[in-house]
Amino acid sequence: MRKPIIAGNWKMYKNAAEATAFAEEVKASLPAAEKVDAVICAPALFLQSLVASAADTDLKIGAQTMHEEQEGAFTGEVSPTQLKDSGVEYVIIGHSERRQYFNETDESSNKKVLAAFEHGLLPILCVGESLEQRESGETGAVVEAQVEKGTAQLSAAQAADLVIAYEPIWAIGTGKTATAEDANEVCGIIRKKIASLFNEETAEAIRIQYGGSVKPANIEELMSMEHIDGALVGGASLEAESFLKLLEAG
Ligand code: 13P
Repeated sequence: MRKPIIAGNWKMYKNAAEATAFAEEVKASLPAAEKVDAVICAPALFLQSLVASAADTDLKIGAQTMHEEQEGAFTGEVSPTQLKDSGVEYVIIGHSERRQYFNETDESSNKKVLAAFEHGLLPILCVGESLEQRESGETGAVVEAQVEKGTAQLSAAQAADLVIAYEPIWAIGTGKTATAEDANEVCGIIRKKIASLFNEETAEAIRIQYGGSVKPANIEELMSMEHIDGALVGGASLEAESFLKLLEAG
């Protein structure tokens, strides 16, 4: 049995006071850790204070991106060792917004995934097709190629610990959710690809999230699907009350 993982991706929202208030409210009502992994991926500036707020609770803190090098002359970047040192546990890699606006690719995402494991962070690797690719029937091939390139050189044990987030680009922030059946179909394709790249055991263990306009009203149906093990949530993770409802359905 795979443990559900619900991760909020705050993107570039909130100020320091709002971040702390959120953590205080959520940690007071957090569901049991055996039931669901609860993760907040916050702007880098708030990571340390969130780690402090979440200390001694089961709320996990994640970053939204990172550089793959440990240190160096990379103005503005944050390294895996800096994240680890700050108590961060997860890191989102290759989000479609990073690919679209910051030139990230499958190859750079792969370097970051490898660096995350090397430094003891758990990566959430994002994949997903554009509307054009979906409409021309390329979804399966696009997502399979992203998974293959993004997981290159991982050991089977690392792949089993990886989280993959299937986020169709056309469903992000648009209010358009993939139907639960469509989302499940693509998550199933991803699981099958992991089986062929690694082995059946790894494919059974790996957790695959759906992301794209997930909210309290649709999470239960998504979570009832065989291949959907959680959600990566933008807008609906910004309010503590809504994030807690998502966790309850996890
Ligand atoms: P929304 O939930 O706002 O559609 O964002 C999805 C997303 O990009 C999460 O990483």
